Amino acid sequence: MCTQEFFQTQRSQLVRRLALRSLENFESVLDYLLSWEVLTWEDYESVSLPGQPLSTLARRLLDIVWNKGGQSCKLLLVAVRIAEGADEQTEPPRQWSQNVSCPAQDLQRHRPVIVRKIYGHVEDILNLLLERGFISKYECDEIRLPIFTSSQRARRLLDFAKGKENGVARFLLQHVHQLPVLPAPFPEATACKRYMAKLKTTVSAQACFLSTYDGSENLCLEDIYTENLLEIRKNLSVGAPSQKCHETLELPDIFNDSGCINEDADTVLLVGEAGSGKTTLLQQLHRLWATGRHFQDFLFVFPFSCRQLQYVDKPVSVQTLLFEQCCWPDEDPQEVFQYLLDHPDQVLLTFDGFDEFKFKFTDRETHCSPTDPTSVQNLLFNLLRGSLMKNAKKVLTSRPHAINPFLRKYVQKELSLKGFSQEGIELFMRKHHSDPEVADRIVHLVQATSALHGLCHVPVFSWIVSKCHKELLLHGCGSLKTTTDMYLLILQHFVQHASPEKGDWDPWITSLRHRLPTILRLGRLALCGLGTCSYVFSAKQLWASGVEEEDLSLGFLVPSRSISQESLAPVEFLHITLQCFFAAFYLLLDANVTPSTIRCLFNPHQKPSRALVWLLPASCIQAPEQEEVNVTALLRKAEPHNIQITAVFLAGLLSQEHWGLLAECQGASTPLLQKQSQVQRCLAQGLRRHFQSIPPAVPGEVKSMHAMPEFVWLIRSLYEMQDEHLAQKAVCKLEVGHLKVTYCNIGPAECAALAFVLKNLKQPVALQLDYNSVGDIGVEQLLPCLRVCQALYLRDNNISDQGICRLVDQALQCDQFQKLALFNNKLTDDCAHSLASLLRYKQNLLALRLWGNAVGDEGALALASALHDHQSLKWLSLVGNNIGSLGTQALALMLEKNTSLEELCLEENRLQDEDMCTLVRGLKKNSSLKVLKLSNNSITHQGISALLQVLESNTTLKSVWLRGNTLTPEESEQLSLMDARLLL
Ligand code: ADP
Repeated sequence: MCTQEFFQTQRSQLVRRLALRSLENFESVLDYLLSWEVLTWEDYESVSLPGQPLSTLARRLLDIVWNKGGQSCKLLLVAVRIAEGADEQTEPPRQWSQNVSCPAQDLQRHRPVIVRKIYGHVEDILNLLLERGFISKYECDEIRLPIFTSSQRARRLLDFAKGKENGVARFLLQHVHQLPVLPAPFPEATACKRYMAKLKTTVSAQACFLSTYDGSENLCLEDIYTENLLEIRKNLSVGAPSQKCHETLELPDIFNDSGCINEDADTVLLVGEAGSGKTTLLQQLHRLWATGRHFQDFLFVFPFSCRQLQYVDKPVSVQTLLFEQCCWPDEDPQEVFQYLLDHPDQVLLTFDGFDEFKFKFTDRETHCSPTDPTSVQNLLFNLLRGSLMKNAKKVLTSRPHAINPFLRKYVQKELSLKGFSQEGIELFMRKHHSDPEVADRIVHLVQATSALHGLCHVPVFSWIVSKCHKELLLHGCGSLKTTTDMYLLILQHFVQHASPEKGDWDPWITSLRHRLPTILRLGRLALCGLGTCSYVFSAKQLWASGVEEEDLSLGFLVPSRSISQESLAPVEFLHITLQCFFAAFYLLLDANVTPSTIRCLFNPHQKPSRALVWLLPASCIQAPEQEEVNVTALLRKAEPHNIQITAVFLAGLLSQEHWGLLAECQGASTPLLQKQSQVQRCLAQGLRRHFQSIPPAVPGEVKSMHAMPEFVWLIRSLYEMQDEHLAQKAVCKLEVGHLKVTYCNIGPAECAALAFVLKNLKQPVALQLDYNSVGDIGVEQLLPCLRVCQALYLRDNNISDQGICRLVDQALQCDQFQKLALFNNKLTDDCAHSLASLLRYKQNLLALRLWGNAVGDEGALALASALHDHQSLKWLSLVGNNIGSLGTQALALMLEKNTSLEELCLEENRLQDEDMCTLVRGLKKNSSLKVLKLSNNSITHQGISALLQVLESNTTLKSVWLRGNTLTPEESEQLSLMDARLLL
């Protein structure tokens, strides 16, 4: 292959190599190309325009070079290798001439080496040039703008010299000649090296332990870290329906090229619900770096927590952010900072918990100077955008709701944390319990309790189970169903451990009552925090909320996790979910919170009245008569997703199961009763409002509803109440034929809630749960509502054979169940066997779709034999599986016998001509099939000719899809003329 052709085939890879590395890398490629005269000055200017995305410039460069021919392409490849440091030998030798006749040209010819010589001396050289009158003050300032790195300044100085005819080029050449070539971009300077070491030690110390929440023990992260499912979120391109929209990856690979949606951006976004393990994952990333195991391309890693950053109330520059908020260099801060600016590609900044940052992302205010201070939010936004520290990698974690489309524009790739797999849950328990017998018992207990198993895939719940294992092993966990049950369990654990002399003997209710004042004080603090978006509390705030020493000893408030010594606030709730839990307790049990206040929790859309908001800032702690107004104002100011979590807990605490406990705490239970009926009313009304907002059905179609996240929240709250009667009342009159709950972060816990409520629907529903994280455990949770499901769609849900086998067992008993779609899961022949038994016993099934799985010949055979005399199945899809000759033979035999199947989809399998001939034999005797889809196989002209013969006599078949097979364009054209039913 000639170089130009090779160059073209490598184009996308070259774009990536040029654009995804640093700007420095790209500019040094340009230096070489200029010096070898591959690029003219005009070319150079057109590919070094400031402000343009690097990928655009890279593509433009490739176009220019390609147009210049093979030799230029060859030189570009050489330049790329040299710039990447892979290939020093291939650099064409150049004589460094001292007696220059044309200095400007020589500056250009020796540009790469001159840049390396002067980048550490630009300031001195500029002063010298200024002294000698070669340059004006204004020109100097242009060159030394703080947005440029040192080597960029060096290049600008050369560009300046080229354009002048006043002898500056000659002077520069003579001066430069004395200078040594500076070392490669590894920090040689002692100050930088010391700083690297200090930063590593600091990060390592912070990342080493996972502070467990009662403060009594510290778990070594290395010992307990358990792999968490990490998925890349992809942009689904239209026209590629079988493309998986999720792909899993391992933590060490998060910076590789896969899943990149914006190659000009530097920010990797990691989203996950509360408790899904974002903070822990970041901590593990820091640890892997600090211990030298992974991520060693970064020489400097700076961890930040958004919840703490928002307390920085004075203007900050990049420099103060890195040094004051993270790690201070003991020597020569200027030199260290300049190194960081010059080598952004060696820097990683991580920002945890963007959802806890009270400022919403905006790109309205651009700030480019790394040394000038600005507000902390503006600094963070500009870092994420890349206006500051461009090419330094950033990782941002957040709950999904806090990511707005403006921010998404600057995201290089998006990852989501899906929690533990089944194996992960088991591994977690084993890591937490070194006694294998105890570990076995816990694992067994969790696996045997379906609802608990569903919850444990969220890491924070696994942690609760592990923490409370003694209680669970003693009393069993049959009563643990809801999130609230879990949090009450952890409360019980902490309360009883905080007063061990009584704890073991006192009944739980007595201990709780004894601790009620503490719980209410913590609850009040929690609510004030939610209402003011504060998640860390200073001693002053604790004092203002009346929190006492003994309240701290309960263990729910822990020292704030901060890397910085100058941490402004000393304590935080162990987890945001616990903050919400305490707020819920307060709302229920504080005598001054009236039932009507509770309504605000469930009506998040009601706009706050200005008067109420004004009351807030002075202090949350006011006279009792102010309390109601105050609480309302707090609820309205709080982040809606935290309010939703609080509402879920509130509903859970009001369940019948916990009624005794609460009533016992409160003494007079009238307000409690009123609060309970208020919540019941809000939930039933909320759900009805949702259903009523659905437009009427299009004639001839079922009434369809696309659920919004708020719908899922209402369903979860209903589930927490565990009130069968209320669930029934809320949905029994609702009419909906098709319920879409796609892309709603549905995991096993949400499946349990959906099943609890939807099983009460009176008419059959098609339940579409595509693109969620249902998994095998979630499938199990859905079983109670299968009876009302007429169809179940579970595309991209990480389901394996095991989950489907359980589903089939249940579906056998569900008369109305008729359609099942399982695109892109992890299904194999085992699942096909199970589905074959479903087909055998359920003669009213209509559709079975197994697109994009790993079903092979064995599975196809099982399904085909079950279909020989099936009376109703109309659609069978096995697209994108692994079916070859044996499977096709079985399907052909089925076609001979079956009289109901109307559509058979076998695209993207391993079918060849002989398989086509086999199918033709089946089609000869078939008189029901209308559509046969065979696109993207390996069928040639010969196979299709055989098909044409049967088409002469078969009039039922209306279309045969054959695109993407092995045909020339002429053959395709000729064949499609022979029969219009062939789609080629
Ligand atoms: P998030 O930041 O998403 O709210 P966290 O990282 O704080 O979640 O996780 C909550 C708790 O769950 C942690 O304190 C820890 O006990 C447990 N946990 C989370 N992820 C892991 C993991 N990968 N391995 C072990 N434990 C984990």
